Amino acid sequence: MTTKPRLLTGDRPTGRLHLGHYVGSLANRIKLQHEYEAFFIIADLHTLTTKPERDFIREIPGYIREIVLDYLAVGIDPELSTIFVQSAIPETYELNLLFEMLVTVPRLERLPSLKDMARDANLDTMPFGLLGYPVLQAVDILLPRANIVPVGKDNQAHVELAREVARRFNLLYAPVFPEPDVLVGEVPTLVGTDGSAKMSKSLNNAIFLSDDAETVGTKVKGMYTDPNRLRATDPGAVEGNPVFIYHDAFNANKAEVAELKERYRAGKVGDVEVKARLAAALNDFLDPFRERRARYMTRPLLLQDVIANGIRRMQAEAKETMRLAREAAGLGYVAELFQDTVDIFGENE
Ligand code: ATP
Ligand code: MG
Repeated sequence: MTTKPRLLTGDRPTGRLHLGHYVGSLANRIKLQHEYEAFFIIADLHTLTTKPERDFIREIPGYIREIVLDYLAVGIDPELSTIFVQSAIPETYELNLLFEMLVTVPRLERLPSLKDMARDANLDTMPFGLLGYPVLQAVDILLPRANIVPVGKDNQAHVELAREVARRFNLLYAPVFPEPDVLVGEVPTLVGTDGSAKMSKSLNNAIFLSDDAETVGTKVKGMYTDPNRLRATDPGAVEGNPVFIYHDAFNANKAEVAELKERYRAGKVGDVEVKARLAAALNDFLDPFRERRARYMTRPLLLQDVIANGIRRMQAEAKETMRLAREAAGLGYVAELFQDTVDIFGENE
């Protein structure tokens, strides 16, 4: 048995993963998967909070596949890590109900992220389930009893809530859950290609990890840059300029970046060249991912195995956690009473 500390994080299956996901969370996952026992959740139930319609649900399996491909492409090692689908873990629903009793409505209403989500989904009132989004996220984190959660900045407040839930549960009942630490990526929130605050697949401002070289070129050409600069001979602003933010985050040639910044500030280089070099750097960065992705795409059975193994592994973990939680809370009484006649929690072999 391993005694490594545990890590949990994941993504909603709403599309392919992009550069924002990479710097916000994936980079840390790849780094930490050796030190930690890592669990990666594909949080399909979370998509229902804003999109419960059948038409959207129909899209989920395709996105699950894309996300697993992205995971493997960037170097998440399925031999080391557990990749699973949230809805395949029944204990999720059960623990969610217990946790709902440990959080107040005003506490949830104070989270700015929920209002943003409701607005982005064009909802004028808050669904009960969307208000509970961070509670469900606490379940995801605490079901494998994770110690660390690598996420982007937009999720930091949710991990804080998970800490509070863990503390409250442990205090009320018995110490079952660790208080998980958040680990925000090197770029806490990556800007979009349009200069807006966050790269997001729904805002049409994302460069996907699986975009081909030509697509990257086109997207970079259309990127927002210093709006006050009209000619290549005008001194340009480097700070806050998305093109340079990407150079800093993804161009491995630091000397080239420093030189470009200097010339840009002095009005000695045009946007066209700065962008062309960025496109080249991004393509160098993405090439190994593209190759690995292409290889995995030819092995659909392997992909299925990865998910099936991950689900089995997480199911066992969730069963154990829920057993501990029920015992701590004294909620096993019905099962005890009818031990030999009814199998309530699937524990009778
Ligand atoms: P999108 O906005 O593109 O739909 P998302 O935020 O809805 O993405 P999630 O599945 O909610 O995607 O988040 C997956 C992880 O990626 C989270 O840890 C989130 O903080 C992180 N993340 C998403 N976008 C960015 C970004 N632009 N910069 C940094 N981290 C990000
Ligand atoms: Mg998000």
